[in-house]
Parts: sequence; C-alpha cells; structure tokens
Amino acid sequence: MALFHACPICRSRIPHFVPLPRYYIDKAVEHGFPYRIDEFETINHQAYSCPNCHSTDRDRLYALFLTPVFQRLDQAKAVRFLDIAPGRALSFWLKSHPHVFYRSCDMHMPEADDKADIHNLPYADESFDFVLCSHVLEHVDDPVRATAEIRRVLKQDSVAILMAPICLSIEDTYENPEVTTPEGRWAHFGQDDHVRIFSRSGFIDVIRRAGLAIQQVPVTDFLTAEVCDTYGIGRGSVLYLGVKQEVVQQEPEPERNVA
Ligand SMILES: [Zn+2]
Repeated sequence: MALFHACPICRSRIPHFVPLPRYYIDKAVEHGFPYRIDEFETINHQAYSCPNCHSTDRDRLYALFLTPVFQRLDQAKAVRFLDIAPGRALSFWLKSHPHVFYRSCDMHMPEADDKADIHNLPYADESFDFVLCSHVLEHVDDPVRATAEIRRVLKQDSVAILMAPICLSIEDTYENPEVTTPEGRWAHFGQDDHVRIFSRSGFIDVIRRAGLAIQQVPVTDFLTAEVCDTYGIGRGSVLYLGVKQEVVQQEPEPERNVA
C-alpha cells in the first residue's frame, strides 16, 4: 500500500485516486452483461482517475512508459506524435514536451486537430514517429483496416501504442452483427458504443494481420509494484506495442542446374 499517491500527468501529490464511476458497472450489470470489470486487463477501476486532472490509469501508464522513451531521444529533433481519439489530460501532457510535434484526430471530438476516419487517415505515408490508439478499436467497423492505416502513417521502426479493453475470460474475440441497439450493446459488449469484446489472442491477431510486429510489455517490466501503487496503475497492466518493421523480401530460390 502506497503511503501517498501521485499523478505523473499533472505532477501533483494526491490523497487517493477516484474509482471508475459506478454508472458503467451498473449499466452493464443491469443489461445482463456476463463479465465483471475485473475480468478485463489494464483497468484499475478502484483507482481510476486523478481528482486533479482527471487522467485515467491508462493515461498515467502511457506517460510513465513514454517519459524515459522521450528522454532517450535526440532532444534537437522533433518527434511527430499522432494521438487518435485524444484524452484531454494526456494530450496536455504530451504537448508540454517542447520536442514533441503533437497532432490529434477523431471522427467526432471538436477539440481534436483533425476530423478523421481511422479507416482512412488524412496523413502521408510514414509521417509519424509514434501513434497512440487507445480504446478506439473496440468501436470501429474494421479494426484490421484501422490498424493497417496506423501502420501506413508510421515511420519505419516506429511504434504504435495500441490498447483496447481485453477480456481475459474469453478465448476468441466476440462480435455479433445482429446486435445493433444501445441496449443490446450494453448486454453483449458491456458498453453502448462498443461493437466487440477482444480476447487477448484476438487483439494480438488484429495487430499482426495489420502487418505490425507485436510487443507485449507488462507494467512490471518498467515499474516496481510500489511505483504502480503510487501512480494508481494496476500491477497486472500490459502495454501492447505495434512495431513497423521492414518487410523482409524472401530471396528467390536459386535456379538449380539440372545435369
Ligand atoms: Zn493528475
């Protein structure tokens, strides 16, 4: 148990984080959604948001992951960062880094820099050093096509942080095209604007099919358990990174001389 808590986004010391509003849990239960919140990976529902800046546990996780990554980069070079469906607290934090050239996009949010459909991003090929796509792919029509668009706009050897709610109790991603109403989506997917529940293997499969190499980074690889508690991060949190690696062309088989 941490003696005090701190938020890496607004850099303030706080007495405790605020739990996820009961609304989401109660609505899902009311509609008969079969999974509990603690069957999902990387959501610290008991220490969810910062009372000061309203950052979520995943915002804090990304900031703590990116801090040393940004420090290792050449500070003289601009880092082009695309934030898809931006959150207010984390976008403010990202923009506070002078060498980060920040751009955000969304279909509906007026505060995003660009209005864009993730299936067809309005950016040139290989134009970003980082992409963050957090809690978007559970909403979209075609997550493989959306992730392939992320791959297209990423520079070679660059990284996308790709996150979505992952239910650890299911083997395969669950979709159901017959469920089209908000009530049905609460019952089947746990939220009225979700169109699927990812399993872990199903989510990894989306990233692979989009042509990105997958890296799973458990939070305990870069933070101690005590630091997780201090910053309100679940100790079982896992980051999913999609890395754009060069496609290795297979050498054509040498022609054999048949005597
Ligand atoms: Zn904060």
